[in-house]
Amino acid sequence: STSSDRYEYQAEVSRLMDLIVNSLYSNKEVFLRELISNASDALDKLRFLGVTEPELLKDAVDFDIRIQADKDNGVITITDTGIGMTRQELVDCLGTIAQSGTAKFLKALKDNKDAGGDNNLIGQFGVGFYSAFLVSDKVTVSTKSPKSDKQYVWEGEANASSYTIREETDPEKLIPRGTRLTLHLKRDDKGFANPERIEKLVKNYSQFVSFPIYTWQEKGYTKEVEVDEDPTEAKKDEEDGRLRRRRRLRLLLSATGIGSSLMKLNQFGLLVQLRNPKEVTKEDYNEFYKKTFNEYLDPLASSHCTTEGEVEFRSILYVPAFAPMGKDDIINPKTKNIRLYVKRVFISDDFDGELFPRYLSFVKGVVDSNDLPLNVSREILQESRVVRIMRKRLVRKAFDMILGISMSDNREDYEKFWENFGKHLKLGCIEDCENHKRIAPLLRFFSSQSEEELISLDEYVENMKPDQKDIYYIAADSVNSAKNTPFLERLAEKDLEVLFLVDPIDEVAIQNLKSYEEKNFVDISKEDLDLGDKNEEREKEMKQEFGQTCDWIKKHLGDKVASVQISNRLSSSPCVLVSGKFGWSANMERLMKAQSM
Ligand code: ADP
Ligand code: MG
Repeated sequence: STSSDRYEYQAEVSRLMDLIVNSLYSNKEVFLRELISNASDALDKLRFLGVTEPELLKDAVDFDIRIQADKDNGVITITDTGIGMTRQELVDCLGTIAQSGTAKFLKALKDNKDAGGDNNLIGQFGVGFYSAFLVSDKVTVSTKSPKSDKQYVWEGEANASSYTIREETDPEKLIPRGTRLTLHLKRDDKGFANPERIEKLVKNYSQFVSFPIYTWQEKGYTKEVEVDEDPTEAKKDEEDGRLRRRRRLRLLLSATGIGSSLMKLNQFGLLVQLRNPKEVTKEDYNEFYKKTFNEYLDPLASSHCTTEGEVEFRSILYVPAFAPMGKDDIINPKTKNIRLYVKRVFISDDFDGELFPRYLSFVKGVVDSNDLPLNVSREILQESRVVRIMRKRLVRKAFDMILGISMSDNREDYEKFWENFGKHLKLGCIEDCENHKRIAPLLRFFSSQSEEELISLDEYVENMKPDQKDIYYIAADSVNSAKNTPFLERLAEKDLEVLFLVDPIDEVAIQNLKSYEEKNFVDISKEDLDLGDKNEEREKEMKQEFGQTCDWIKKHLGDKVASVQISNRLSSSPCVLVSGKFGWSANMERLMKAQSM
């Protein structure tokens, strides 16, 4: 017999609800993430205020979030034991848009629409409390602030311009503290009221929320319990006793399994526990990796970093043990390998170079920031100074991690890495000049003096002759054809090492690097190769002797060659076809041909 008061929404709220419901249609599931994040915020606020006002915590209830799914009636309730709301706060928070963040959202949404932008983008926004109406006909918010001795019920319906507030009088519905949201699902959305579906959504979006999230699981244990009974085994007395004990335990479990049981859904606090890298073991990191990315194998390496000060974020990065199947498809930036969290709420893994350059897209990891708004959009990501700083640090961390593998005592680790992700780094030589210094030491090649084992540029440089100025390379389609090329003859005679570039991308990568440790990369198949051993006297003699022969050959070959020259480049072969100084190398020509086919 309580009267309820009716209030009109502020005009912007009606507009916002309209927009949300119409634009987010295909991404409805975000409602749960938003409501859980509000519950988590409310718990955070209470925890914070409780430090200076302990009387707020006089009701000794746990800090947690409970979600109940009532399949039969299509109802979901989300209960938190957080700060709750007073009557006035209900009006202020759920009837008006006080938040500048939300106002910005409205503007961005409008600009995007005006610019003909696609609506999918909106799925990236945090849309707050009103997202409840994506899936609900009616939403009830029953809430008790520790500052008030009364509990109030806010009730609103989809597509309505007003809501009501009344006092909660049903003694069964009274809660000591916090907020209970009841979502009466729309006919087509009743499927969300399913514990398994809730579990999946929580695991995806709210895995690391700092408070435990529970749901009720129906008749949990009975199945698991009846498995391993085998009476024929029970021959000895001792075994008999053990069996009896086991059976008793089983009965006990099935007794608690009747009806429903609370099940924890998230790895709450895991990211918080990971705050201090010193306290975390390698096993913890590996476990976290496998859970987060549904991986079966341990990663090759991990790197944990917490940054404070200018921009605050935490990250844990991993190098996977293997490239995903179909690894030829290396330039796939949309790997969903980086999961971005804002205050431990999952925001997105749908990045395209914003957090990592695409050639590093094989790196997996989670990034948790406190400095980004929950309603972060792709536009915001691209323009944000915070994101730029994050990106720079993440890239540096990733290189440190890879360098770590390369310096490991176990040479196999890096070989494995190189086999899986070497191509990515070569792509980096082409796409990321800024990081050449970081990439170059990580490259590996076969060479004329190491045909079986890959060497680094550092190893090459170490093996250079005292008067050798350049780093020599030859591009070919295999180690075998590289080592049989006539160009090698004279260098082999002088014991000069030549890198074998046998991957089509190698030559382009090397040409982009230009030099390493101030030593230029020099293609030994180009016509002006100078090994610093010119003998002008002898060259003159040779030219005189064979000049006519050259002219004769040129006449017969015509346009097929640019010129025919005497050279000192060979020791046993009579002649060789070389590329012009400014032309493509033979390998490049092969590449270009392959591409135009
Ligand atoms: P935001 O979370 O960005 O502030 P929302 O639309 O999600 O925007 O929520 C609006 C406001 O409603 C919150 O700022 C908070 O004051 C209040 N609120 C929402 N849910 C809860 C809750 N479970 N407990 C307490 N207050 C809440
Ligand atoms: Mg919110």
